[in-house]
Amino acid sequence: MIINHPHGAGTNGVRLTMESALTARDRVGVQDFVLLENFTSEAAFIENLRKRFKENLIYTYIGSVLVSVNPYKELEIYSKQNMERYRGVSFYEVSPHLYAIADNSYRSLRTERKDQCILISGESGAGKTEATKKILQYYAVTCPASQQVETVKDRLLQSNPVLEAFGNAKTLRNDNSSRFGKYMDVQFDYRGAPVGGHILNYLLEKSRVVHQNHGERNFHIFYQLLEGGEEDLLRRLGLEKNPQQYHYLVKGHCARVSSINDKNDWKVVRRALSIISFNDNEVEDLLSVVASVLHLGNVQFAADEQGNAQVTTENQIKYLARLLAVEGSVLRDALIHKKIIAKGEELISPLNLEQAAYARDALAKAIYGRTFSWLVNKVNKSLAYKEGEFPGWRSTTVLGLLDIYGFEVFQHNSFEQFCINYCNEKLQQLFIELTLKSEQEEYESEGIAWEPVQYFNNKIICDLVEEKFKGIISILDEECLRPGDATDTTFLEKLEETVKNHPHFLTHKLADQKTRKSLGREEFRLLHYAGEVTYSVAGFLDKNNDLLFRNLKETMCNSENPIINQCFDRTELTDKKRPETAATQFKNSLSKLMEILMSKEPSYIRCIKPNDAKQADRFDEVLVRHQVKYLGLMENLRVRRAGFAYRRKYEVFLQRYKSLCPETWPTWDGRPHDGVAVLVKHLGYKQEEYKMGRTKIFIRFPKTLFATEDALEV
Ligand code: ATP
Ligand code: MG
Repeated sequence: MIINHPHGAGTNGVRLTMESALTARDRVGVQDFVLLENFTSEAAFIENLRKRFKENLIYTYIGSVLVSVNPYKELEIYSKQNMERYRGVSFYEVSPHLYAIADNSYRSLRTERKDQCILISGESGAGKTEATKKILQYYAVTCPASQQVETVKDRLLQSNPVLEAFGNAKTLRNDNSSRFGKYMDVQFDYRGAPVGGHILNYLLEKSRVVHQNHGERNFHIFYQLLEGGEEDLLRRLGLEKNPQQYHYLVKGHCARVSSINDKNDWKVVRRALSIISFNDNEVEDLLSVVASVLHLGNVQFAADEQGNAQVTTENQIKYLARLLAVEGSVLRDALIHKKIIAKGEELISPLNLEQAAYARDALAKAIYGRTFSWLVNKVNKSLAYKEGEFPGWRSTTVLGLLDIYGFEVFQHNSFEQFCINYCNEKLQQLFIELTLKSEQEEYESEGIAWEPVQYFNNKIICDLVEEKFKGIISILDEECLRPGDATDTTFLEKLEETVKNHPHFLTHKLADQKTRKSLGREEFRLLHYAGEVTYSVAGFLDKNNDLLFRNLKETMCNSENPIINQCFDRTELTDKKRPETAATQFKNSLSKLMEILMSKEPSYIRCIKPNDAKQADRFDEVLVRHQVKYLGLMENLRVRRAGFAYRRKYEVFLQRYKSLCPETWPTWDGRPHDGVAVLVKHLGYKQEEYKMGRTKIFIRFPKTLFATEDALEV
């Protein structure tokens, strides 16, 4: 459904009476970019954002898409009263807000019984997660309640602190950065009350468990546990309060941060765990796993005379054996040996120092990554729609919230950025398809001739990444599976061979003389829809393989810690097939996500970060311009503005402007369609300026509308 909203006037949707609409537009900009006179100008776009940001108007529409700029300060726009203001109200009657999007989706869900989804994107720190939480809160406050429903609402809300504790971390960009992608379905019953939910998680940044860049931290839960955990508990886990004791917590040199209160957050997480129905034993098992990762990080090795690694930290092995409920000596051996099964025979070889450290870190990442998935699973069990609790309310509709990493371009881009940017290509493709489709459908249903829109179809880039046999992921997998001497470099060479003439792909060797200077020999460049990104191939094979040595896997399969036991399944050991690589897993889960989103009616929230300093009232134009580009907002506006800037139901249009024509004022007794025809004739609209559809008037240029709007003021 496409909804529009006219007036640039009035910051709160109330028309200004003292000031003319024109002056207000000058000061606070237009609340919908489709009303910008010069809609192809990026400068005008950014100027409009800047004006509004200065007035604390952080939300602006592009048609039905909401653009949000992170204010980095608390604004008084999220109160219960404000939520009430947006309930059941049309977009254009109130100023742009998250709540308008939330309410509009909810109403379509209820009246049309069509599943909805809200897609939130933007770069790190732009406000995606905050937006998701605010939308959930909106539903928790405004949806019908009953005792059972309250429990579901509580669980939906409380799943956040738990998943954030395990999946978020302080980074340079954001003190509470989500290091995983998240899609959450909320199920509503026939009365519109939330009765269940389900979460899908994507690509947790596991490497953070063993390494953090300067100024960054590991996942919050480690610090929370050390800061907040009761003495008894820490003693049982063999932990000391001081994070400096743990190798995995000091890599970024900032275990303590003034903006984060780990002790308080610990209390919130503990409470949340019990609300999502963890009993005491389960909490203890979970924390044992968390503690085991810290102990693993402190396992040290020394080389014996042959150069083979030996464990020098017996104490850590003792704790690990207890926490993971495994045989200590077996674990110790598994950490310093490698077992291969060849032709049915077991071959065991010792590891050198470097290999042992690698194996240890791989184990820590595997334990943490799998436990995170287990946790999501557990949350899902608690959120599951239980028919028994809601007898007779069988049919449900679903509203999904997608909070996923935006386009990433760093100084150094690796496998992770490659996956994330691929994900954004897919989302962009979905966006273009669905927006064009809904535009086309509206024209059709209104009986207006479709005017074709020129747009860039990024399918060509998606294919380049994901096509069978000759896509980048296929070639990467092929190199990963090839026994022998496959390396990151041979992967790059194979890429060059296979996709050499692709217009969106470049390497040092393939580039012309001029471009060559900007490309290293170990890099490839993709021309994404949002711009160029250069990826370094170093680590691609290793990250894609994501291997754990067999004997470590075996040891974990024998664990009597119920969580570890569920995370490491015996079938992995006997399964002849190689496990799916990381990129292929990601590709498959993305393709499932696209199917889910395709089956729903989408709404979009595009989040923008105004500065890199996490500061209020600072609008860095260069930074914002990049994001406008990466988010594809100009393209978005162009598609949206291709035909008509503005459209409105006849009743609504007539109601607003009837005072401008003696024949329609004070009432028009005939059909609203005819009333509008009389009205626009009286106003002198020219033929090329508008079209009359079945139920709506379509106006081509904003200036026509503004002139009418200004006439109201006189
Ligand atoms: P990441 O991709 O790193 O997870 P994100 O887009 O999810 O980033 P958030 O965690 O939602 O970013 O926001 C970062 C910070 O910005 C928040 O912790 C909060 O301090 C501030 N912030 C975001 N949105 C708002 C808002 N609407 N009002 C006030 N502060 C906000
Ligand atoms: Mg986030």
